[in-house]
Amino acid sequence: MNKKLLVANWKMHHTRISAENYFANFFAALPAKLWADRVELVFAVPYTLLATVSTILKDKLGAVAAQNMHWLDKGAYTGEVSLPMLADLGVGKVVLGHSERRQYYGESDESVALKVKAALQAGFSPIVCIGEILGERQAGKTSEVIAGQLAAVFAQISTCKQLIIAYEPVWAIGTGLAATSEQAQEVHQLIRQIVTKKFPEDGSEVPLIYGGSVTSANIAELMQQAAIDGALVGGASLSGDGFAELVNSLL
Ligand code: PEP
Repeated sequence: MNKKLLVANWKMHHTRISAENYFANFFAALPAKLWADRVELVFAVPYTLLATVSTILKDKLGAVAAQNMHWLDKGAYTGEVSLPMLADLGVGKVVLGHSERRQYYGESDESVALKVKAALQAGFSPIVCIGEILGERQAGKTSEVIAGQLAAVFAQISTCKQLIIAYEPVWAIGTGLAATSEQAQEVHQLIRQIVTKKFPEDGSEVPLIYGGSVTSANIAELMQQAAIDGALVGGASLSGDGFAELVNSLL
């Protein structure tokens, strides 16, 4: 995989006006012709901005993603958003199982797996986040945790077409303490082994991306690791200028 996949995770940031300013700054700093054949960009934005950002990106390169969804199509689930609702806005990608959703909203391996199954069945590309917390790493349980999180998802799915996996060590998210490129490479290799064992035919094509305090200072080294196909970027993707600088540091 030569093109690197960069997913900007805006979390709970931005409004319509600030999103417009964001892309004005981003595209001014980084015309698409500079990056189109080197990186693929996805912007995971709040629900309220999906329509706005889809429109802004219409004639540009770059796709929009939601940050969550329900696994059912409709029903009495106040506050939830379904796949048909996202599809209605032209959205085809969704981040699932982010550690903040697991930590603050009780998402379990099982609910994440149901969402991944529904997303794949609906033709979406789920960006599935997995990763260990600090105590698990310190206890030498990283491989076990990763294998368990993947096993829960793989128990529900029969294809890996469109699947994207993000390895996000929880201790590295928003802390400024990124995994070293060696640590990230090691876990990505493990994930690749597990994915290709489950899907011998096309598991090698599933993009595996790293997330956790990626910045313009460390992205180039992380992306040089053979097992890492891209990055999920939170804090460093929040300003158009800053994210352009990060993308630029890869070109
Ligand atoms: C994230 O939101 O998934 C993330 C990796 O955040 P940050 O880049 O800020 O650590």
